[in-house]
Amino acid sequence: MVLYSPGRTTSYPDHPVKEGIRLHFLGGGNEVGNVGCVLEDKTGTRLLIDYGLAPTRPPKYPSECPPIDHAIITHSHIDHIGMAPWLVGHHQTTLHGTELTAAVSEMMWRDTYKVSNIEGYPLPWDLRDLDVALDAWQTHNFGEWFDIGEWRLRFHRAGHIPGAAMIEIETPELRLLWGGDMDTRNSPNVGGAKPVSCDILCIESTYGGREHPNRVEEEARFVARVKEIVSRGGVALVPAFASGRCQDILRILHDAAPHLEVHFDGMGTRITQHWMNNPQYIHEPNGLEKMWRWARKIRSKSDRKKALNSDVIVTTSGMLDGGPAIWYLNRLRHDPANAILLTGYQAEGSGGRSLLDNRKLPIFGNITPIELDVDQFQLSNHAGHSELESYVRACGPRHVVFFHGDVEARQAIGAEFTQEPKPSFPLNGTPLELK
Ligand SMILES: [Zn+2]
Repeated sequence: MVLYSPGRTTSYPDHPVKEGIRLHFLGGGNEVGNVGCVLEDKTGTRLLIDYGLAPTRPPKYPSECPPIDHAIITHSHIDHIGMAPWLVGHHQTTLHGTELTAAVSEMMWRDTYKVSNIEGYPLPWDLRDLDVALDAWQTHNFGEWFDIGEWRLRFHRAGHIPGAAMIEIETPELRLLWGGDMDTRNSPNVGGAKPVSCDILCIESTYGGREHPNRVEEEARFVARVKEIVSRGGVALVPAFASGRCQDILRILHDAAPHLEVHFDGMGTRITQHWMNNPQYIHEPNGLEKMWRWARKIRSKSDRKKALNSDVIVTTSGMLDGGPAIWYLNRLRHDPANAILLTGYQAEGSGGRSLLDNRKLPIFGNITPIELDVDQFQLSNHAGHSELESYVRACGPRHVVFFHGDVEARQAIGAEFTQEPKPSFPLNGTPLELK
């Protein structure tokens, strides 16, 4: 098991920076998620960007962060904020993010705490750390400059999910843009990221070497499949991530097939409430409001039973690792008219992956064969290979740093850039100095 042992695991160098900027990845350099990166320059100004964990079994944590007064949190996904309560509990760090990221963080942290208890994995922070982290937020609007030490910073919209931000950092020597998780394409709930001119661009590489199918066509394929299942008398079970994917699916269905009876269950319902309270982050917020009135929210056990005779159920967890999706699947699995529509990537070791590869998955501890039709749709909110490439060119940096990707993905996107901008492929625990 990968345990987090504070005081022994930090890999942060103790010598000062001579020139330019030093990037030191605690996690998320040569891997997807699990992000944490310390930036420092010769003025001694230092900050951390994101501090997440990988919700694998057992979970993985970035290495220990050195004392830090300020952290930028790009968005509220657990692989970017999961360890922030530890930071605040140990270093009294101020967390900088958008208002929506701060609003959603409590739910994400409480869910992580709950899951770690259920699964019996130790978490390096406790409920007291969580409580102080809730008071550690300093929120900023997109485009609004603020100062940390000798640096000026401002957030820009990153696409990906509502409230997700890129951070532009102006040091006395250079301008750096940290893209976070990003997408330049519009999705149902958020507009795409726009280029920001910079000297150094740090950009995710999740989909390096892979192109997404045309988004409009993929959405149409999804809706057509739902209609097919409903017309043969089945229920479409759509497992989807609570923060982003659930709401995208519901808006797609509301726009294209409002006659369907669609139920919405799980943590995504509570997250949507925060989105509704922060409409400035939502693409066409009226559409979200209409969808919200239309979708049948599950609030009780009897609501759940009613949903079993409806058309569509959209719920967590997106990778069938627990949550209401498993409860529904356990009841729907006996009627072959029903089907499961997966809406994204299914990680190695997840229930969804096991369903795709072996036609079975754990239900309440028992490996259970599933005879239902299973389809998978690519509705990712990360930029694909071409989007990444054009985005880098549009920002016009001298250096481009590819992080948040596996080896093949980083090599594939890096191969597009041989001279200007100069590509870097940082490794966790090895400092990278750029000027
Ligand atoms: Zn994310």
